[in-house]
Parts: sequence; structure tokens; C-alpha cells
Amino acid sequence: MSVATHRRVLPEAPARRGWCPGLSRPMPTGDGLLARVHPPLGILTLPQARAVAEGARRFGNGHLDLTARANLQIRGVSEATRAPLARLLEAAGLGDTRADGGPQRLTLTSPLAGHDPAETFDVPALACAIEAAGLAVAGLPPKTLVVVEGRAGAEMPDADAYVFSRASGEVGIAIAAERGFHDLTTCTEDEAPAAIAALLKAFARSGLRRMRDLSPDACDAMEDAVRLALQAQVPSPAREGERGGVTSDVAPFSPPAGIAPLAASKSVLTVDAPFGRCTADALDRLVDLAARLGAREIRLSPARGFVLLLPAAAQADPAALARDFIVAPDDPRRSVAACTGAPACASGSTPTLADAASVAEAFRPFAVDGRAAHVSGCAKGCARPGPADLTLVGRDGLYGAIVGGAPGDEPAMHLPIEAVLERLGRAKTMGLAAAFAADRARTDIGGTRRPA
Ligand code: SF4
Repeated sequence: MSVATHRRVLPEAPARRGWCPGLSRPMPTGDGLLARVHPPLGILTLPQARAVAEGARRFGNGHLDLTARANLQIRGVSEATRAPLARLLEAAGLGDTRADGGPQRLTLTSPLAGHDPAETFDVPALACAIEAAGLAVAGLPPKTLVVVEGRAGAEMPDADAYVFSRASGEVGIAIAAERGFHDLTTCTEDEAPAAIAALLKAFARSGLRRMRDLSPDACDAMEDAVRLALQAQVPSPAREGERGGVTSDVAPFSPPAGIAPLAASKSVLTVDAPFGRCTADALDRLVDLAARLGAREIRLSPARGFVLLLPAAAQADPAALARDFIVAPDDPRRSVAACTGAPACASGSTPTLADAASVAEAFRPFAVDGRAAHVSGCAKGCARPGPADLTLVGRDGLYGAIVGGAPGDEPAMHLPIEAVLERLGRAKTMGLAAAFAADRARTDIGGTRRPA
């Protein structure tokens, strides 16, 4: 039976386009309303983390998502519980920051921001200044994102704009282009907030949702706006040499799972949430451990995990958290992205989280080589919009298999999960491309279709 005969309209995807669900505008999903919490700088104090866990337990269904923008989502909220949830989190200092539909949180920084000795400028201070500038810009698209990275040569996640450390110690400003970056300017740390404010205003005027969609002329207009903003300032000298230095290797944006020294007086403990999910009880257990070890806050990682900054002498054993979290850097689940899928998301037809756990085990030999897989409930690709070495896209209870492509690409075939796992077993000897070659698909299509 051809899957094409079962084409259907996805019920909620169009309405969700560009939606940024905060506490006052939670988003309907398959398991109730979803309320997103946007901790400033991705940092929760321990009492705030307790409040999030309590909110998820009392007013949601006890499940939390950790997002790739280092935010948290409380699932299973109802019309009756959304208001008390909002009140609880507002009282904890985690309320929405704006009511005009603009981004609740504009910046993304490394979980080690402000504590990494390789940073060449004050990342938290600059991120706060950019947040303040963004609040003053009307019409900013809700998903606008500015990455602020203080380590020269560090890896940076996808965003609209980038504020980063130049090897010279100055600050670079760039915007996303269709491929890579469009470098706009170099300035000092003190000049950067005004330059970014001008950039955000010009972007809001463009009417576009993503900076990467700007035309060449629009990019020129952005560059002009930034240049004029810099010319209007009293020039300030660069602070080259005051802090940090150029790293010889590309540093990851988020630290890998496990424990590692950070500086002479600190260590960092990182745990990742399997496929970005954890429970309120697991978060409470993490807070208990953080308090015992002397951490004052919990930082959210764009790798969908939590980071604790600890005194160097703290006796931290990551294995204590293994029941709830990924604690080893070679855990294959770190190489597999997965969205909520069915039944929690109405757009999904496959139980992506359960299937992703099976895929991760079968994908282990490829994860060791640094390759990545993505199990997506539908073509929207919420967990990883870009390409992966293997992307599986749910549709009508089957998975479309795409080797080296993104969720929106045309799958070579549609398979039940059992056939996916069988082909992954064969791929160990013949490679992913050969194992998922289209001419092998005929024997699999029509296999058992499993209800979600
Ligand atoms: S990708 Fe997953 S979470 Fe996103 S809309 Fe599709 S099924 Fe839902």
C-alpha cells in the first residue's frame, strides 16, 4: 500500500508558525497546553528551579521539555491551571518579559558564560544589554535570536545574528546568510549594544521572520544602520588583552555530559535530558544535588541539558543522576534528536521518543564517528530543522527515511520502525546510504503499520 494514499492535512502546524508560547499565551498540543519558561540568560536560581518543578507537577502533567534555545516547556497545562501556573512563575521572577508578541528571550549564550576563562568580553553584561535593546523594538519577530559568544573561534548554533569575539579581542557582529554568515562590522565591547539595537530595528522594519531571508539590498541596509549607529558614538578603545585569549581548537558551545575542571577554583557538571525531556521529580533531584554540592544556580544548555558550576573540591558523581539524565559523553542518545511526537503532539503519528531510544542504540556505531540522527514526528522538524546523517520523518505511522537531508526533504522510502532498526543493523557493514537506498524499499513498504 502506498503511503501517498494516506496523505492528510496536519491539524495544527499552520497555526503554530512563528508562535512563541510564553506563560500568557500557552500553545495547544496533543497533551494539553504547553507553557514555555524563558529564564534570563538561561539561568535558574535553585528556588526558581524548584518553582518550575512545582509548576510542572501541580499545574501540568509533570513533564518538562528542554529546548535548543535553553528554555523550558511545561506540558499538559489546562485552561484551568494556566493562570495559577503563570502566577507561580511570575512570583519566582520567571514571568513573560513582553506582551507584544516579540521574543520573550532574545539572546543565547554558552552555559559557561561569565565563567569561562577563554572569554574575551563580559558575555552576560552584553547579553543583558541586547535583551534591553530588543525589548524597546516593536515588531521584532517572536523567534528572533542573537547568539553572544565570548570565546574566539568557538562553535556557534544557528541564529539570526551573532555577537562574537574576534581574534583581535574586539567584538564582531554578523547576521545569518543563506549559507553561513554575513559579516557586518567589528567594534568594541562598549559599542556593541548600540550597534545591535540599530540592527534589530532595521530587521523589524524589514517585515521578515528570519535574517537569513534578507535580500542583498536589505543586508546592505542593515550594514548601513549598524555603521551609522557606530558613527554616532564616541569611539571607545578596544580592551584587547584584558581577558581570555584565542583558543586553538573549536570550542563547543555547550559542555559535553560529565564532570570537568573549568578553572582553578571551579568544575562543571553537565547532564543532558534524553531527547530533551525530563520530569519535575528529576529536576527536583537535580536541585537537591546542586544544593548539596554547593552550586548556587542551574544553567540550561542548548544541548538540552543542565549545567552546574561547582567548587573544584565538590565530590560530584554524575552516576547519581544516571536514572534521570545522560551523564556520559559517549551515550548514543546524545547523537539522536527527537521531538515529542505522538500522542503528545497532535501533528505526530509515531511515538518518536520511544522509537528514538531504539534508534539511538542501533545508531551507536555511527554516533561514535560523530554522526547524528533525527527522529521527527512530522516534516516540521521541531527538534532539528537542519540536516542529519539520518533523518526519520513520521507520517501515518511510518517513517520516511532521508540520508544526509532535512525533515522537509523528500524521503527515499517509508518504513515501519522495525524495518528502520533492521536496516540500521545492516548499515554497520554497508553504510547508511546503501542500507537506506530506495531500491531496497519495496520489500519494506506495506509492512506492519503500527498505531501511534
Ligand atoms: S516535529 Fe514533532 S513536535 Fe514538531 S509539530 Fe511535528 S510531531 Fe509535533
